[in-house]
Amino acid sequence: MQEIKIPLDWPDIGELEKEYILKALESGYVSSAGPLVREFEQRFAAYLGINHAVAVVNGTAGLHLALKLLGIGPGDEVIVPALTFIATVNPVVYVGARPVVVDVDPRTWNIDPAAIEKAITKRTRAIIPVHLYGNPADMDAILGLAREYGLYIIEDATEALGSTYKGKKAGTFGQVGVFSFNGNKIITTGGGGMLVTEDPELARRARILVNQGREPGETEYEHKEIGFNYRLTNLQAALGLAQLERLPEFLATKRRNAAIYRRELQGIPGVDWQEELPGTESNWWLFSILINAEKYGESREALMARLSGRGIQFRPLFKPIPLQPCYSHYSFPPCPVAVNLYAKGINLPSASFLEKDDIMAVCANLFPR
Ligand SMILES: *Cc1c(COP(=O)(O)O)cnc(C)c1O
Repeated sequence: MQEIKIPLDWPDIGELEKEYILKALESGYVSSAGPLVREFEQRFAAYLGINHAVAVVNGTAGLHLALKLLGIGPGDEVIVPALTFIATVNPVVYVGARPVVVDVDPRTWNIDPAAIEKAITKRTRAIIPVHLYGNPADMDAILGLAREYGLYIIEDATEALGSTYKGKKAGTFGQVGVFSFNGNKIITTGGGGMLVTEDPELARRARILVNQGREPGETEYEHKEIGFNYRLTNLQAALGLAQLERLPEFLATKRRNAAIYRRELQGIPGVDWQEELPGTESNWWLFSILINAEKYGESREALMARLSGRGIQFRPLFKPIPLQPCYSHYSFPPCPVAVNLYAKGINLPSASFLEKDDIMAVCANLFPR
């Protein structure tokens, strides 16, 4: 592949980030002991309008912690969507529970509530909806099922910071919500994440579990339970504070760019994209399209080769969980909708520093030849 001219999801790091990191370095607090971790948690919680936020080392650890906090373990089943990044599913296995994979909706690409209901058994304890590429899942239907069957909701909001569902922020619907600050996410701390909850008891236990099972203020190296080293550092929190300040700017650019894509692509036969449910607003983390080769008149592969040749970065959608070699021994159901989306889909350049002209240049290359 030639040099990348229009990147997919590179981070947007500027002067504010440098200033905050430098201040943190000069303060001498580089590790998790440092005032900025708490400040980042408080500002993050305030942004979401939720009571508690606990910083963690990455989103995967946050999901692992969420399952632990809710007491999910061997003998339990947890329902997850077929089309997601592998890190939604692996933590279910980490705690010894069984992931139950269900298919997604062809329009939103998110977990299909009808498929969830069919998969519920006596052993089901929780559902992990994912807001794929930032697009909010059908939370009314999912919360309805959770109430009816007495299930927990752990929201995998790792891709959905700033997205809203009926005016409420993604990540604030379940018992626990989890965000990621990996380098390619909406905001980054290099690597990092946040666990959020309204429940003070869950938040209190999360603070203990992230710190090797040690109670806050405990100085005698006494550990009442077996925890993890899942803390974020002060340096990362400095980066996070700067990125959080710039989040409105990132969201505005991503939404503007997604609107340009939709406007430019609507006339091209055989090109579709993710639909937002009425009353929802995606952060458009990664704008993604489906190529229906017959109508489009060209294969997805030919299009990908052309984009590569122009230095336009793209990526296939996540390989569905039932197709993953690491889960081949689970005999998950086939999930034809997820497999079909995967066969047709690609993520397009969506980095939050891309200008209108960059998006227009990508669009100019999306017309079939
Ligand atoms: C990024 C991501 C995660 C994991 O986050 P990390 O911070 O990379 O561990 C989990 N689920 C989904 C859907 C993601 O996109």
